[in-house]
Amino acid sequence: MPATIIDGKQVQASIREELAKKVQELKAKHGLTPGIGVILVGEDPASQSYVKSKEKTANELGYYSKTIRVPVETTEAEVLRLVGEFNKDPQIHGILVQLPLPPHINENSIIFAIDPKKDVDGFHPVNIGKLHMGEECFVPCTPAGVMELLKRTGVELKGKNAVVVGRSNLVGKPVSMLLLAQHATVTICHSRTKDLAAECRRADVLVAAVGKAKMITADMIKPGAVVIDVGVNRVEGGKLVGDVDFEGAVNVASAITPVPGGVGPMTIGMLMKNTFLAAERTLVK
Ligand code: NDP
Repeated sequence: MPATIIDGKQVQASIREELAKKVQELKAKHGLTPGIGVILVGEDPASQSYVKSKEKTANELGYYSKTIRVPVETTEAEVLRLVGEFNKDPQIHGILVQLPLPPHINENSIIFAIDPKKDVDGFHPVNIGKLHMGEECFVPCTPAGVMELLKRTGVELKGKNAVVVGRSNLVGKPVSMLLLAQHATVTICHSRTKDLAAECRRADVLVAAVGKAKMITADMIKPGAVVIDVGVNRVEGGKLVGDVDFEGAVNVASAITPVPGGVGPMTIGMLMKNTFLAAERTLVK
């Protein structure tokens, strides 16, 4: 029997519906509107399109949103100043600096300057540290999206073998910590892993976050495994495919995310959720 397709678009739509209601409640009860401040440096088309959809979603959910667009030659000092302004602005609860930044700007300097209480991307070392300690924090949006998909699909993680392929700070490492927090036994694979296929075949839950088109093939998947494909790869003809060979994997897995339409749509939803939480946390003094 082919695998259940985990529909990220549908899950993201229900998250948005839930959030829109909560935003109305927050406004009515506390007179508080969640606010997101976005900084976009330069005119990279992909970054421009991400920022546009973030603005659109924020507006649709009834958030206050402010985007500052500055030219590519803007200095690091000026970006730091803009971050500082957002840090001080009581209308802004979540700050997002769209990455990647131009090479003359040190990304870490910018990330470290964001108030951890407003770091809705979850990249600040304080939030990363708290994630590892199992404390309340902002979880990076894509890994949070992966966990939300697993939760809403009813996947039990306790005692299961989870294998994560990829160890980036953006996806692989945080997703591994989150799986561990849910009591899975976690293996993290990377480019130096000796026998990737054998590691993957032990997975009850397999998360692929590599960035290599269709590298996880059906023979690397344990029958009945749940497969979450974070990869986004553009192949010839402009088509988007994941890290998993979907056509083969769908006949082996019990559930699988498609690309596009799986993990991808979850990221903005999680960003909005984090921004809502950041606003709500200002009420707790
Ligand atoms: P990185 O390039 O930062 O990390 C890729 C990881 O894959 C590295 O840890 C690397 O290992 C590992 N890797 C590379 N080649 C192999 C191999 N042959 N076998 C095993 N492991 C390998 O990518 P990201 O984590 O940022 O992103 C991963 C994918 O997820 C990309 O396709 C990206 O586009 C997508 N993505 C999707 C998002 C979304 O849907 N919203 C958001 C973020 C990312 P090593 O560390 O040894 O180099």
